[in-house]
Amino acid sequence: MKIVQIPLLRDNYGYLLVCEKTKQTAIVDPSEAEPVLRRIEQEKVTLTAILNTHHHRDHTGGNEGLLAAGKLEVYGHKSDSGRIAGLTRGVDEGNEVQIGEMKGSVFFIPGHTTGHVAYLFENNLFCGDTLFTAGCGRLFEGTPEQMHGSLKKLMGLPDNTKVYCGHEYTESNLRFAMSVEPKNPKLVSRFERVQGLRARGASTVPSTLEEEKQTNPFLRWDSKEIQASVKSANPNARLDPVSVFAAVRKMKDSF
Ligand SMILES: [Zn+2]
Ligand SMILES: [Zn+2]
Repeated sequence: MKIVQIPLLRDNYGYLLVCEKTKQTAIVDPSEAEPVLRRIEQEKVTLTAILNTHHHRDHTGGNEGLLAAGKLEVYGHKSDSGRIAGLTRGVDEGNEVQIGEMKGSVFFIPGHTTGHVAYLFENNLFCGDTLFTAGCGRLFEGTPEQMHGSLKKLMGLPDNTKVYCGHEYTESNLRFAMSVEPKNPKLVSRFERVQGLRARGASTVPSTLEEEKQTNPFLRWDSKEIQASVKSANPNARLDPVSVFAAVRKMKDSF
């Protein structure tokens, strides 16, 4: 399969998933239609489906425009039928998605919203605003327990899984990560590498799940240094995984 990253709006990413045999193609999270349609033409592929990770407008804003240009299947969590324009395929945990000859699977990962899903094709994970490179999404509709459970589920995938998230937020996420775990050498070197990439306008997405486990503060509830940062912000803080996750999320909200 071929993956084409398309920068959209200010800092969103959409992704074309191209079946190289049939040229059938899906777009993950079209924020807007025009740049997607242009890229479809350049790549000489046939758009057959939209894969929405969640209902937020910066991930679905292009649905109507793409549907006006041709008939498409629109995938999203089944609970979001009233919130995702044109939804035809309501999906849930474990469902399969087929594009041309490519097969993907669906993970239900609520927390950022109540109907958030991720799509996994081979070792490529499209996880929207749940797991970010070096961060995670805000808890707009879900609880810390839900988000922690969703992130833990994604952490169960192999280390070489590529993390294709919905935004280019890596550098600012790492700035926060450095504030809670500055002595993590892998974090320090990632921060330097990412600053170099951003200085020349390059994308920092995808990362790998291994890199996220080593440096993403929202997956590091077991880190003694992060636990100490949580304690120093609030001496009464509890240090079980969900409480550490919730405390770090709160610290990031006001960072
Ligand atoms: Zn969102
Ligand atoms: Zn977003």
